[in-house]
Amino acid sequence: MKNEKGLLIVLSGPSGVGKGTVRKEIFSQPDTAFEYSISMTTRNPREGEVDGVDYFFKSKEDFEQLIKDDKLLEYAEFVGNYYGTPVDYVRETINQGKDVFLEIEVQGARQVREKFPDGLFIFLVPPSLSELKNRIVTRGTETIDVINNRMNAAKEEIEMMNLYDYVVENDQIDLACERIKAIVVAEHCRRERV
Ligand code: 5GP
Repeated sequence: MKNEKGLLIVLSGPSGVGKGTVRKEIFSQPDTAFEYSISMTTRNPREGEVDGVDYFFKSKEDFEQLIKDDKLLEYAEFVGNYYGTPVDYVRETINQGKDVFLEIEVQGARQVREKFPDGLFIFLVPPSLSELKNRIVTRGTETIDVINNRMNAAKEEIEMMNLYDYVVENDQIDLACERIKAIVVAEHCRRERV
C-alpha cells in the first residue's frame, strides 16, 4: 500500500564530512528517485558554484526577510552565514508524493525533526575527527580560522548523533551512497507494508 505523501529525507553531519560530495554522487545516479531541495545561503559562492544549482545565494537582508515571511522550513547561522530550506518547495513536493532530500547541518535538522517528526534522519560521520580536519584542509577553500571554527562546530555536532534514525560512516563515498539509498528503500518497505 503506497503512502500518498513523499518521504522527507534529511542528511546531516559535521561540516567537511562529505555530505555535499555524497549528495552530489547520489543525484548523479540515474536511478535516484528523490528530489533535492536547494538551500538558500548568505555565504559567497565558491569557485564553480552556480546560483540556483548549488544554492540560492541571497543577501543578508533578503534572507532576513524570508525568515520574517515564514518562508523557511528551518534555518541556521553556521560559521557566520545563514543557511535555510525553502518551505513551499518541500511541502509541495512531498504533497505530490515525491521524496525530498535535504542536506543540512545539525541545528537545522533538529528544527526539521520538530516540524516533521516522521522524516527520515540520517547522520553521516567521518571515520575519525583527524580525518575530518584533513578533508577540510585538503579542500583548500577555507582559511585557518574558518577551519578551526568548523572543527569546533564538528565536535559539538557529533554529540548530536543520537537524535538520528541512522548513522552512516563515510569511509568511501560510493559505499556511503549505497547505504543511504538502501536505508530509503528499507524505510519505504517498513512504512508501506499492509
Ligand atoms: P557549506 O558552506 O560548506 O556549503 O555548508 C556549510 C554547512 O551548511 C554544511 O554543513 C551544509 O550541510 C549546511 N547547509 C547547507 N544548506 C543548509 C540549509 O538549508 N540549512 C541548514 N541548516 N544547513 C545547511
